[in-house]
Amino acid sequence: MDAIGNSIPSMISIEEALSRILGYVEVLPAEQQPLVDALGQVLAEDVSSSFDIPPLDNTAMDGYAVRAEDTAGATAEAPVQLRVIGELAAGYTFDRTVEPGAAVRIMTGAPVPAGADAIVPFEETDEPFQAAPSGVRRLAAEVNVLKAAQPGANIRRAGEDLRARQVVVQKGTVLRPSEIGVIASVGTAAVKVIRRPAVAVLSTGDELLEPGQPRSGARIYDSNAHSVSALVRRYGGVPLMLGIAKDTVKELTAKIHEGLAADLLITSAGVSRGDYDIVKDVLTREGEIDFWTVAMKPGKPLAFGCFQKDGRRIPHIGLPGNPVSAMVAFEIFGRPAMLKMMGKGDWRRPILRAIAEERIVNRNDPRLFLARCIVSKRGGKHYASLTGAQGSGILTSMMRANALTLIPAEIDVVEPGEEIEVIMLDWSRGEEWGSYLAEEH
Ligand code: AMP
Ligand code: MG
Repeated sequence: MDAIGNSIPSMISIEEALSRILGYVEVLPAEQQPLVDALGQVLAEDVSSSFDIPPLDNTAMDGYAVRAEDTAGATAEAPVQLRVIGELAAGYTFDRTVEPGAAVRIMTGAPVPAGADAIVPFEETDEPFQAAPSGVRRLAAEVNVLKAAQPGANIRRAGEDLRARQVVVQKGTVLRPSEIGVIASVGTAAVKVIRRPAVAVLSTGDELLEPGQPRSGARIYDSNAHSVSALVRRYGGVPLMLGIAKDTVKELTAKIHEGLAADLLITSAGVSRGDYDIVKDVLTREGEIDFWTVAMKPGKPLAFGCFQKDGRRIPHIGLPGNPVSAMVAFEIFGRPAMLKMMGKGDWRRPILRAIAEERIVNRNDPRLFLARCIVSKRGGKHYASLTGAQGSGILTSMMRANALTLIPAEIDVVEPGEEIEVIMLDWSRGEEWGSYLAEEH
């Protein structure tokens, strides 16, 4: 199959378009990253620990390190008195042995001194619970234990979390905050991860203005470059904002060449049938490109191709110009391409079944309808309602949405109460999902 160079006369499905795009996209090389900067990146090598975690048996509580047998039979009425021979904070070791009848005052995380085999928490001694200012409090000579301790009580064992030489995070893992914490805990400060894609974002059109500039007449502000760059950043890439190219050969050519420094080039507008041919001309002249009609609403006109530069192949996705179409087409095609570059195989989104709360009409349209909707959960069921008018220029319909419907072309009308499928774009919608967290599911 060759996606490039063949013009496709008829509409192609989303799956077809996506598999052609992904066929041209390769996983990027690895780079070294400081830990926190690697959030969301895929680990390119196994990380293991060179030592046990925790490294030594240590106390899980503030209290007294004792020999459990010394505390046998201790009760509040008949306490056992022990000699306090010292004090130990986390990060230090105790250089003496706890002999029979002795105890060491000890803080959470401090290693258990030799001879001791249990920790009696302060609550089970007569030591009043108080935070004395340092330097003022003096260590009492004795402590009364009010409850018998079992051997091993309140001791965290060396290696109970991780063993030396054990692989702690595997190659291929997407790094979340917990993996980053675990990698830090084994003493590793930087990791080899698959590089983030640099994604060049270019808007085309004589009507466009940069936000911040004064507006006049028929000019409109460029929203696509901003919404798409924000999506690039959300999905872990680095946007390279190229700004606006006027519909002239010179400007378009120059901006496209600037974009070839990136790993992926995204343009918007100029790919629909009604456009001046200039964008298509330049794209065709500078690279290999196909113009597709994809069976989706919104987002029908789409361009896909590749440019060559310095022996590299840079894929290019040409999004439709309408602001909703541009965002939806990026979600459907740009996001999977980026995630594949980042080494993430699992780019598919969860699909939910939701009950339509209103009538949704998709009559006379042979395309999958990705309507913007709000999905909420009540009484254990998901419900979907549209975010108002669905014109592909109405960007606020996207702003209010947390999901897209997946209404197949064959379905002309969905009646209220019927079930539909939805793709979640965003799970965090405050209170609506508050109850979701509390419910069993
Ligand atoms: P086109 O694909 O060039 O026919 O553009 C379709 C519609 O999208 C037109 O109404 C354009 O003005 C609008 N449009 C194109 N690019 C942008 C952009 N970057 N930001 C906002 N609207 C745009
Ligand atoms: Mg245009």
